[in-house]
Amino acid sequence: MTKINPHFQKLKREYIFPIIEQKLADLKNAHPSAKIVNLGIGDIAKPLAPTIIEAICKAAQEMGTIEGLHGYPPSTGYHFLKEAIVKQEYANLGISHEEIFISDGANSDTSNIQELFDQECSVGITDPTYPVYLDTNILAGRNSFIRLLPCLEKNHFCPSLPDLHCDLIYLCTPNNPTGVAMTREKLKCWVDYALKNNSILLVDNAYSAFVTSPDVPRSIFEIEGAREVAIEFRSFSKSAGFTGMRCAYTVLPKSVTANLAGSKVSLHNFWNKRQSIKSNGVAYPVQRGAEAALTSAGLAETQAQVQEYLKEAKTLLEGLRKMGYVCYGGIDSPYIWWKTPSSQKSWEFFDLLLEKCHLISVPGSGFGLCGEGFVRFSAFTTSEITQAALERISKL
Ligand code: PLP
Repeated sequence: MTKINPHFQKLKREYIFPIIEQKLADLKNAHPSAKIVNLGIGDIAKPLAPTIIEAICKAAQEMGTIEGLHGYPPSTGYHFLKEAIVKQEYANLGISHEEIFISDGANSDTSNIQELFDQECSVGITDPTYPVYLDTNILAGRNSFIRLLPCLEKNHFCPSLPDLHCDLIYLCTPNNPTGVAMTREKLKCWVDYALKNNSILLVDNAYSAFVTSPDVPRSIFEIEGAREVAIEFRSFSKSAGFTGMRCAYTVLPKSVTANLAGSKVSLHNFWNKRQSIKSNGVAYPVQRGAEAALTSAGLAETQAQVQEYLKEAKTLLEGLRKMGYVCYGGIDSPYIWWKTPSSQKSWEFFDLLLEKCHLISVPGSGFGLCGEGFVRFSAFTTSEITQAALERISKL
């Protein structure tokens, strides 16, 4: 009989979202009139900005004419979008448009990047983590080469340098789920580590638009030496409300190298080849919409939305702290990482919030063992919902 990839059996983590859905359905059955407050989802809550809509509609109209027809897009993206990204996001950082690869999502890119590397590369992954990095490396057969890097209260949720060598290190900053962003100083330690140890940093910066702290860089390429060792992943999903549109990009400088049969080679060509083989690109109207998000009008509109999400995060953070709870994140990120009171397990506290407050969170244990004892709140919400959540929690 045909054999299935045996590494599927090594995926051991709990898939929390179906369990949450089931618990929600049970609650609705038991209390049909319950008004549920959902702070669990990490999906956007605001409509696309007018400047983006206008550009998408215009591009769709163009596609309805012989002159404006666009067939298959270039597999790594249109030049116009790469240029707009370089100009708006990487001015003075020494990144060229050839080093930008447009894709349908940071989820795909952070999943796929590991395909460039040998099956026996050692991989450092933070715990807790955005689950994709772990699952894709397990499926690729690297289960025994994974080194978990704990992110705990005592290291301010930023991973310490590993004792054992890591060829690849995934860093997510600002972080999902902890909501904590790494400072320039901390990122410099990792860049120096990678330079010294011939490692490569895979930096998921999907929440770059939420950075507000002056000591937190917007891009890893602000750090000296990063152009030799880092690959950055960005997305329009959270910065411009594109979760339903699908557009993101990877920045892979030509100066990032690795070993191929004893020779030092640039990774750039390999990612280019991988994307050309496996992707037929991102729709023209979507890329025009992303380009519009980077115009001054688009930026004003999208940044206003991000500021509103950050305001909700601040209200949640301050409200919970005022009630005496211990919470982290929420400053450079839309996520709040709430330490459960009295050392309750994540699921225990999730159940309590659901039963007593009709409030949905995400159990931290779903992001890794070190997430146990925390729940995640998302601030992709409205002020009415934030207020309702705080009011209910105050009566716990
Ligand atoms: N990376 C992180 C850390 C995320 O939290 C998310 C989405 O929640 C993604 C990547 C996925 O982004 P995209 O919508 O571009 O696939």
